[in-house]
Amino acid sequence: LWQACVDQLAQELSEQQFNTWIKPLTAKVADDFSRVTVFVANRFKLDWIRAQYAGKIASMAEKIYGQPILIELALAPREIIARPTSLAVVSDVDVPRDLPSPGEDPASSAFKNRLNSGLTFENLVEGTANRMARAAAMHVASTPGHLYNPLFIYGGVGLGKTHLMHAVGNRLLADRPDAKVLYIHAEQFVSDVVKAYQRKTFDEFKERYHSLDLLLIDDVQFFANKDRTQEEFFNAFEALLAKKSHIVMTSDTYPKGLADIHERLVSRFDSGLTVAIEPPELEMRVAILINKARAESAEMPEEVAFFVAKNVRSNVRELEGALRKILAYSRFNQKEISIALAREALRDLLSIQNRQISVENIQKTVADYYKIKVADMYSKKRPASIARPRQIAMYLAKELTQKSLPEIGELFGGRDHTTVLHAVRKISGERQQLTELNQQLHVLEQTLKG
Ligand code: ADP
Ligand code: MG
Repeated sequence: LWQACVDQLAQELSEQQFNTWIKPLTAKVADDFSRVTVFVANRFKLDWIRAQYAGKIASMAEKIYGQPILIELALAPREIIARPTSLAVVSDVDVPRDLPSPGEDPASSAFKNRLNSGLTFENLVEGTANRMARAAAMHVASTPGHLYNPLFIYGGVGLGKTHLMHAVGNRLLADRPDAKVLYIHAEQFVSDVVKAYQRKTFDEFKERYHSLDLLLIDDVQFFANKDRTQEEFFNAFEALLAKKSHIVMTSDTYPKGLADIHERLVSRFDSGLTVAIEPPELEMRVAILINKARAESAEMPEEVAFFVAKNVRSNVRELEGALRKILAYSRFNQKEISIALAREALRDLLSIQNRQISVENIQKTVADYYKIKVADMYSKKRPASIARPRQIAMYLAKELTQKSLPEIGELFGGRDHTTVLHAVRKISGERQQLTELNQQLHVLEQTLKG
């Protein structure tokens, strides 16, 4: 049961959220399935999980199990964490290896730069889609504090924004090993602010952030509606620019497209250089496949790379997934990589594509049906005549496509995944009760399925 919840959360949350908050958790399900006790490493995490995720976990568990289950949060007993060798004794509590030490001191981790040394310029394939962003990033890495400050990089998921950021940090450190560089995901920044707030350690917090030479902050759209965080980020931002430290940011949208972020921050974001990363074009997808195969010591013939690249178009992450399947298939069956083999390895993926209902398609069909504009599917307008069809479209997107909640939110004008989840729950709940709605949904589903 717990594993099913975790799997579900892995799909719905961003990788960062999942790895930070959910992955370290352990749980014990009561023998009679009446309750699940979730163990959390420390008090801070416990509060955060209670606020952010407990409701979601409870409703998930209920859905999976078929009736309400009590979710109980508890601090992981210290001795379990402190004496991992005694694990065998606590047979039914599975404690992961990478638990943070209890009461982790933020100051002690001050200059862990959090860079992934495997993400470099060398293994980032260049193409029309990322040429500008890559050039700007290289410039920043070689002469930080000068042009393009801040550098704001935006684009859809899986297009290489995070990779590019790490590349900047790694390049700068290769040239100047003493530089103070920090890579941080916006969500981690939010939790750092919360921590500093709770422990009244804002001085340390400021010292840590304001002394950097290069701050790489990923996915700033997560600052939406976090007022306190925005204020602290604004302060850090001003302090860093004043001393000519460099700031590189990424987001899923251009600065003015960011929702629920203070105007003064948005205009700061836009005050250096703003560049987009586009989805990779065919030749770039081919080059990426060939390069990545080589990095895995495999040889992918060009014609196979073309075949895969033509069929997997959305982003680099999906290309990587396809490549992984092909390599595994080839190794397992001890066969050379060929088009026939790729077709076989990607059978599921290709067949889903053939009968795929796209979110765009759903948005258009629903908008036509309820006689609203397609653009209102992404707009921020809230009157019920628009908000309701939009929720219906989100619900159908979840039911009829393979997209995750965050991906759907993204396609609906950058809405938060919780908004999507709310819509999905609301419509599926009402569907049980309102025959009229149920009929409408039925018509829409038939239309979409052709
Ligand atoms: P984003 O942050 O935009 O969602 P990531 O930086 O996480 O995307 O990239 C997703 C995956 O694709 C990563 O494994 C990254 O290394 C890889 N990737 C993205 N763009 C390129 C590229 N141009 N060349 C090689 N690998 C890439
Ligand atoms: Mg990213």
